[in-house]
Amino acid sequence: LFVDLGKKSYDILFSDSFNGFAKAMSDINAPKKLLVVTDSNVEKLYADEVNDLLIKNGYDSKIYAFTAGEENKGMDTILGICGACIEHEMDRKSMIVALGGGVVGDMAGFAAAIFMRGIDFVQVPTTLLSQSDSSVGGKTGIDFMESKNILGAFHQPKLVYINVATLKSLPNEQFVSGMGEVIKHGIIRDSEFFDYIEKNSDKIKTLDNETLIKMDKINCSIKADVVEQDEKENGLRAILNFGHTIGHAVESAYDFKMTHGECVGIGMVGASYIAYKRNMIDESTLNRIENVLDMYGFKIRVDLPEKEVVYGYMQKDKKKIAGKLKFVLPTKVGEVMQTTDVSKTEIFAAFDYITK
Ligand code: NAD
Ligand code: ZN
Repeated sequence: LFVDLGKKSYDILFSDSFNGFAKAMSDINAPKKLLVVTDSNVEKLYADEVNDLLIKNGYDSKIYAFTAGEENKGMDTILGICGACIEHEMDRKSMIVALGGGVVGDMAGFAAAIFMRGIDFVQVPTTLLSQSDSSVGGKTGIDFMESKNILGAFHQPKLVYINVATLKSLPNEQFVSGMGEVIKHGIIRDSEFFDYIEKNSDKIKTLDNETLIKMDKINCSIKADVVEQDEKENGLRAILNFGHTIGHAVESAYDFKMTHGECVGIGMVGASYIAYKRNMIDESTLNRIENVLDMYGFKIRVDLPEKEVVYGYMQKDKKKIAGKLKFVLPTKVGEVMQTTDVSKTEIFAAFDYITK
């Protein structure tokens, strides 16, 4: 799959092994000196395989692993990566290989964006969330002072290499989380894709490689298409926030103990309910969205804290425009619209709807 961003264009390759990775690196004329950045979990599973393959193919490659977890997505880890770059005597032409989930991708990408004012990097995503969402689009960054992704840079990778076989070792809750963004892509942009995930849930849930490759490919093409039209999020790209206005607030309300994708699932139901109440979608569409989420194991009804508290979290959303909350609402499966005029009453009704 080709992501067309002019001079910053790159390919996304799909495979069920790492075998083709060295060839893919040579196809993009990767430099000899590489740093494979990964986290402590992925290090144990895949880092040696990838690093050995690179060394065998003549690269001067080293592994740098940091402790896994969102709580380590901060400046200390970035400095650690940059330190490893210096120790490995990397220069402007060297390259970082981000091997892991979204946390690795966001941080390795950010380190690549600032080391020597920017070096190249490639993404080798190993979670469903990163294979279907975060590895495409060029957003990199870290959390700071309780704010998620508040420091960062746009920095496009030179290549995304997706090995769907890595999903076999992924904990189930992480797989469900990734499905949140997958289902989201169907609802915002592609009703045929939504049909596909609705009809192939068995093959997807049992991690059939061929089905996963097909699913990831359509997924990335939807994300890439949106990003190509609006690289820096001035308009269209904001539709990717479907489910996120309420979803982020639920995530905060649960003190980040629920996965991101599961919260986005709840947020999508909330936003769809608002659309249903406005007569933008009918009841069967609302039910269909809920059913697909249910099929993939999402909790849709939750014990929310006090509505005012959750609403308070929404007010901190960094995607507000001129103080107004931005909502993405479905008009049908495959199409959404953006609005800033959703009232507090409508939001509270949505909270009631998603509460047990
Ligand atoms: P993650 O990177 O923390 O991975 C989740 C867990 O799975 C970690 O413990 C990790 O070590 C482990 N893991 C990764 N691959 C594995 C594998 N193949 N087998 C077993 N375990 C594995 O989290 P994530 O959900 O991939 O990404 C979330 C991050 O992505 C958040 O920080 C979020 O802000 C970011 N994000 C970025 C964008 C973007 O556009 N840049 C978009 C969405 C999300
Ligand atoms: Zn998301």
